[in-house]
Amino acid sequence: MAPDSLGGTTDRSRPKRSGRGAGAPTYRAGRGRRAGNGALIPALTVLAIICVVAGGIALALHLTPTTSARQPVASVARPTTVTPAAGADSTAASLSTGSSSAAATNAPETEVPNVVGKPVTVAETVLTAAGFQVQTRVADSSAVAPAANTVVTQQPLAGARLAAGQAVIITYQPMANPSARRQYVVVIDAGHQAKADLALEPEGPGSKIKKPKVAGGATGVATHIPEYVDALAISLKLRTVLEAQGVKVVMVRTGNNVDIPNSERARIGNRANADLVVRVHLNSATSSKPRGILSIYPHSQWTRAIEAPSKAAAGLVEAAVTKATGAKAWPLSAVGDMTGFNFSTRPTIIVECGFMSNPIDDHLGASPAYQSKLAQGIGAGVMSYLKSR
Ligand SMILES: [Zn+2]
Repeated sequence: MAPDSLGGTTDRSRPKRSGRGAGAPTYRAGRGRRAGNGALIPALTVLAIICVVAGGIALALHLTPTTSARQPVASVARPTTVTPAAGADSTAASLSTGSSSAAATNAPETEVPNVVGKPVTVAETVLTAAGFQVQTRVADSSAVAPAANTVVTQQPLAGARLAAGQAVIITYQPMANPSARRQYVVVIDAGHQAKADLALEPEGPGSKIKKPKVAGGATGVATHIPEYVDALAISLKLRTVLEAQGVKVVMVRTGNNVDIPNSERARIGNRANADLVVRVHLNSATSSKPRGILSIYPHSQWTRAIEAPSKAAAGLVEAAVTKATGAKAWPLSAVGDMTGFNFSTRPTIIVECGFMSNPIDDHLGASPAYQSKLAQGIGAGVMSYLKSR
């Protein structure tokens, strides 16, 4: 908001005149003829006072009604518009142009309110209430905002006049940490797909060992729901959680009818320069007894550079997921023969979100409410990891 303009100040502490001057008149009686003069002067004085008072009353009677009647008339009669003279300054010229264009479009104009620095939701409410459309865009990641999700710029600027229904474009900075100039990138790989691809590919760059491009995945022992369905549902909820934190999310898949080999899933993370790749799966065991969350990180000749950060991420995510869901936490697992890990040059983890071979975990994994808890937990762990870097 613009600072209040400072008007002129009134100095009410004028110095007072000090006392009476030395030349104050003094009455000196006793000169001339006393008799006659002594009575005549008071009489003239009284007459003069009467005349002054009478004149004053007459004047007052004459002026009062006229004055009180004239004031409002003068106020109404005063011109309400001032036409700038030709050659007036540019401000007057632009104001004149603005009002004529409003007349031409016949749309009422409203002053655009200031929304810079306000939360995006508040800005949208304010601008909508003022009759404008709102276009919201993410500011350049180098833009510094005082807090996450606050407006960085607006166009037109506050104070401009705009026809109702016109758009005001606001940009905001979703970063929670204004000092972090780069936006985090997380790749989410929802495990498996509707149809397995059993064609073979090397399990790592240059490896003679071959593995199916995409294995079939587990099936719920009670629900009979395939793993790829629950994995995608959890992954889509995780995307929402992370995007709300200002993270740029890249999805390996958003549908089930795809064919994306595990080596290619890793390369998607590499190309995105992901800060972390989160691979969402559900577990299965030969026994129906095991339950809980298992987090896996890579450990092979190809993944030495990413093993430590991946292990750190796995630990933080496992802790956050088990806290959010109340599920059992299995010890972290280091695995060397997963193609989706071995082709990755970016930190990467698998979160096994329960055992589909257990009826309770199976039902939980298919429950939207529990899927949301899983997503919240994974998201919290991912954010902990990203902020720890
Ligand atoms: Zn799986």
